[in-house]
Amino acid sequence: MISTDAASPLGKAVLATHSRYATRREGSVATYIPALAAMPPDLFGLAVATCEGGLVEAGESRHPFTIQSVSKPFAYALALDLLGRDAVRAVVGVQPVGDPFNAIELDPRTRRPFNPMVNAGAIAVAGLLQEALGEGAFAALQARLSAAAGAELALDETVYRSEAETGDRNRAIAYLLRAAGVFQSDPAQVVDLYFRQCALRVTARDLAVMGATLAAIGSNPLTRQEVFGLEAVRDTLSVMFTCGFYDGAGDWACRVGLPAKSGVGGGVVAVVNRQLGLGVFSPRLDENGNPLRGLLACEALSEELGLHAFDATNVGSRLLRALPPG
Ligand code: GLU
Repeated sequence: MISTDAASPLGKAVLATHSRYATRREGSVATYIPALAAMPPDLFGLAVATCEGGLVEAGESRHPFTIQSVSKPFAYALALDLLGRDAVRAVVGVQPVGDPFNAIELDPRTRRPFNPMVNAGAIAVAGLLQEALGEGAFAALQARLSAAAGAELALDETVYRSEAETGDRNRAIAYLLRAAGVFQSDPAQVVDLYFRQCALRVTARDLAVMGATLAAIGSNPLTRQEVFGLEAVRDTLSVMFTCGFYDGAGDWACRVGLPAKSGVGGGVVAVVNRQLGLGVFSPRLDENGNPLRGLLACEALSEELGLHAFDATNVGSRLLRALPPG
């Protein structure tokens, strides 16, 4: 049961934040995946889901778009759940890196990708899932992400094909990973799984619920389904905190102070541990490839509600307790 309480302090903050940034027009829609260029640039949706099952939304919070890199933490959590930390850590590190998301590189010390939030790390995770699940890998991934969202996430065939036709950098990364012994599977198959993972369709509302599932230690607050285990959630939130915003990650950690992940489809998920998930949809990206209004909206809400992980006031807890459960 969902309570949509726009009159609560949280509801008012979400609506005010949405209208504050709705007219901002900086940045531009990603075009390196040709099908993404078709997205109307000025759509803007905001949603917050609480661990008690409350939900507030503003703007185009139900407009579908492709999840892209916001899928990475959830695929990582699935791999951790299936294989355990040691097996996953053997193929991908947890080290922040100040390079672009699609850098074709490995950590020179370990010959493994730096972390699972950059493409090399996410493709290494796809390799693990491909080896563990074979033909059923995409179905398992789709089912687990859908369980986290409490909704069936469908594949956007157009965006999938568009990326599959043009994604040579990611193909190069997959071949590099096999050459380095990160996985033994066919790199073409592994990168295909990654492309399909990125082309799952979500809304800002779905991302808020997925974030709330991580915030609620892996239990979806709307469906009550146990989706991820505690250890997987803890490691996932840790890498989201340190590596979620690519080369903008340090700035994000200081300004917003929340584990989060952005995607070039315009999505952002942010997590307030034990309290809520925040989902944003805003297709115009800044120079780091992050949704510009996503960053601004999360920053404003973090500031106003005292959500920063190191905020001394912890106002967020008090305000959130005022939101009636669904
Ligand atoms: N599918 C995209 C790529 O690999 C994801 C990038 C992103 O969302 O940051 O290029």
